[in-house]
Amino acid sequence: METHLTVAISSPEERGIAVPVKPQQKEAGYYPLELLEFKELLMEKLEETDRAINDIRRKISCEADGHEKGFFGVHAEAGSAEEELEKDARLLTRLGDFWWQIQKSLRKISFGTYGICDCGCGQTIPRARLLSNPVANQRIECKQKITEEAKMRFVKTGAR
Ligand SMILES: [Zn+2]
Repeated sequence: METHLTVAISSPEERGIAVPVKPQQKEAGYYPLELLEFKELLMEKLEETDRAINDIRRKISCEADGHEKGFFGVHAEAGSAEEELEKDARLLTRLGDFWWQIQKSLRKISFGTYGICDCGCGQTIPRARLLSNPVANQRIECKQKITEEAKMRFVKTGAR
């Protein structure tokens, strides 16, 4: 009886039956209606980011103007104004990166590949992760694995 059961639950491969290769594109990713929801979310983020970029650009040009015209007359204040300018420039870079990530995600939506982990595992990035970070392009597990591997490589080469 037991042997029969074992035979029954062995996989098709074990039984020598040819299993068709899974069509990855169909199995992973999201349906058009779901993609539409993500697209709306991305468009919202894009608008927010555009606004933030414009604000910070205006702020930077004001700061630069003020700096040139000597509005920050006292030397101590001129120093902190420069710090502020650097901080804003860094923020602008970060916002610019985010803007590009949004554009890439929107392109993926039009190609229908949005939500598929790009590490090569071909699995779907969970909806909850995409809702909290719509520009995520890897599953948490894959991202962690890649970070670990990079660390290991660093340790190995650094040990020499
Ligand atoms: Zn992956």
